[in-house]
Parts: sequence; C-alpha cells; structure tokens
Amino acid sequence: MRNRIPAALLTLAVGLSPLGLTAVDTKTALKIDQEIEKHNLEIIKIRRFIHMNPELSNREYETSKLVAAKLSSLDLEVKTGVARTGVVALLRGGQPGPTVAIRADMDALPIQETTSVPFKSLNPGLMHACGHDIHTSIALGVAMVLSNIKDKIKGNVKFIFQPAEEGAPQDEEGGAALMIKEGVLDDPTVGAIFGLHVWPEDVGQVNFSTGDIMAGADWFEITIKGKGAHGARPQEGIDAIVLAAEIITTLQSVISRSIDPVDPAVLTIGKIEGGTRSNIIAEKVTLEGTVRALSETNRKKIPQLMESVVKGITQSFGATSTFDYRPTLPSVYNHPEFGQTMLPTLIGILGKDKVLPLQPQMVAEDFSFYAQKIPGFFFFLGVKSPSQTTTAALHSPNFNPDERSIAVGIKLMCHLLLDSLDKQSPLEPPPASF
Ligand SMILES: [Zn+2]
Ligand SMILES: [Zn+2]
Repeated sequence: MRNRIPAALLTLAVGLSPLGLTAVDTKTALKIDQEIEKHNLEIIKIRRFIHMNPELSNREYETSKLVAAKLSSLDLEVKTGVARTGVVALLRGGQPGPTVAIRADMDALPIQETTSVPFKSLNPGLMHACGHDIHTSIALGVAMVLSNIKDKIKGNVKFIFQPAEEGAPQDEEGGAALMIKEGVLDDPTVGAIFGLHVWPEDVGQVNFSTGDIMAGADWFEITIKGKGAHGARPQEGIDAIVLAAEIITTLQSVISRSIDPVDPAVLTIGKIEGGTRSNIIAEKVTLEGTVRALSETNRKKIPQLMESVVKGITQSFGATSTFDYRPTLPSVYNHPEFGQTMLPTLIGILGKDKVLPLQPQMVAEDFSFYAQKIPGFFFFLGVKSPSQTTTAALHSPNFNPDERSIAVGIKLMCHLLLDSLDKQSPLEPPPASF
C-alpha cells in the first residue's frame, strides 16, 4: 500500500550517512540555541497576535500577510496565494544539496474562546483552539533561526504555510491536497517533509511512532426513502424512521463484529434528519456521519459492509436508499525507515525519557496527503505546563497551550531539518592531515 512513494525520493530521503546519529556540530547547535533565545520574545509576540486574530479555513488573509511579510524580511524566496491563502518560502542553503520541507497550518476554528489569557481572541466566535497559531509561530521561528545560519545548510529548506487544515468550506477546495495540486512539493522537488501538532502532554516531551499514527477520515450520507402515511395507520406506509433506527444499530454492529478489534475503526452518525410531524409516518430520513480507520484495509472494507447493511434493511421493507461515501483524508503515515533515521535527533535533544511512543489517534490530519507522496515525519509536541495535572483538549474553548513549547518546537525542527539534509549529503572531505 505504501510503496507509492517513488523509490528515487525514498533513497534521497532516507539515505543513511555514516556520520553518526546527529549531524549538527556543537558550534552550530550552540548558535541555534542563541538564535532561539534572541528571537524568542518576537516569536511569542507573533504567536499572541495570531491568537488574537484567528481566521477560518481558506480565509486566513491577515495571518497569511503577516507570515509572508516576516519571511520576505528574512530574504527568502516567497510565494503567496498558493491554494488561496497559503504561503511557501524557499531558503537556499550555503551548500548544495536536496530540499526538505516543514509544514505549518494557519487556520482557526468556529469556537468562542473562554480562556482568561490577556491575548484572548478578538474575533467573536473564532479561536485558535487547535494550536495552529503555535504551529505557524514555530515554523516562522525556524525560518528566523535557519536564515541566520544559511552557510551551514547543505541544501534547501522549503517552508509550507498551509490554509484550511480543518477542512475547506463546502464547495471549496483547500488544504494540503490543493497545496500539492498547485505544486508545493515541486520546483525544487521536496525529498521529505516534517510536521508537528501540539498535544496535551508535558512541555519538553514529544510523542512519535512510525507507521499509521492518525486515522483516515471519510464522510458518508445515507438517504432512506419509505412511504408516508397517517401515524395511526402504519400498515399503509413504510416508516423511514424505524428503518433508520435499524440501520444505525446494525452499522454499529458492523464495526464491533466485522472489524478486527486491534485495528481500530470508529463509525459516527453525527446528523439525522427526517419526518415532518408527530402524527405522520416519515417518508424520508437522511443520516450523515464519519468513518475513522487507521488501516487502508478497513477504509476499503467498511464502506462495502455499510452499503450492504443499508441496502439489505431498506429492501427487506420495500423502501429505497442512496449511499454516498466519500474518502476524505488518508491516515497519517510516518515512513518507518525515515522515522528510524531521524528519531535519534529527537532523542539527542530531549533525552530518551522525553521521547515517548505515540498511541495511534482516531483524529485526522491532512498532513497525510504530503506523507502519501514523499516520506513524512510527524510528531506530537507536548504543550501542557508541568504544574498542571491536565490541560484542556484540542478544539475546546479553554485550550491554552504553554508557550514554552514554541522554543522546544523550533529547536527540534531546526535540528531535524539540518540533520535530514546532512544525512543526504555526500561526505565532506576529511580534514587535511598535519
Ligand atoms: Zn483541529
Ligand atoms: Zn490541528
């Protein structure tokens, strides 16, 4: 399933270097730390500005302007208006080599913020409740740091600031799929891509695993068409509501009885509409929902099972149905070889006890589209203050990540990008002997 990644790109991305575990020399590592320290206040200010001015998917106009202005001031080659409001910038390193990318998402959610932070959202009903303000700030921070150590970079770094990760508005294209369609992985060709998501674990901790780490997400709609009649004379109609109830229950049994329990899948019907009045047998019911599955096997199997349930139940009562199933997002796949090659970088910086395995999550992320094309490396960055016992969940109105995670994210990303380029570069000539 996953050998769709072209072999040439894979070699480019995972070619192991005999140089050792981490490629960044001590002097450069120190410089990275100093640069982060130097820019930290500015980056926090940027984060707070973005947090105060959240914008919905495909409407990230001001965020995009701010990002483009900052990148231009760093002398990067900046392209705006990619996939509507996306910004792409190229940093050419001082030494020849391939290109790797870092991706950040910029959109916010239609949620009314309830935190009491002084930099609370100024846009009523909108909030950065998924931490994309943190992601954007980290990627900008990486651009600030790396543009000051250009001569150390053995290749190029492409910065991808993506709109609409949460999903484009209806009837609009957007997000990672559109970015790719508009050529973000070409010219120069990107060999591998890095991304992160904030996660309610301690600051200074990351979670990472290879393979499928976040579920694929699909959308479906089922329409059941029966026959209306008087509510007191059911024998003259075909009750679409009773059929819908039967279908809902049986669909849950499909998940619990026909799917391997160690290969997780979730089926949720989140919307149901039907009937007109209390004393009329409903003629039509519409069910709308989502299916989440980690494996491609389940993503193929589940819709087939669902369709046969819907057809079987409706036909046996003489009703008709339609079944519309749309694969939406593939699962996020961390390429195993690439992951193993880069994992020592995370461990080298944070320590072994701070790099924990990632339990697969049933939430989805459109980073998956990039990782389908080229080797991807996606990890969860802890944002919970160590003093807190819990922190609000993503997408909740009181989500309040600890800003100290930003510096951690910048440092990790700088090292991952530099190491990955170094591991692809030819060995430098040995030092001249005395
Ligand atoms: Zn989200
Ligand atoms: Zn998110």
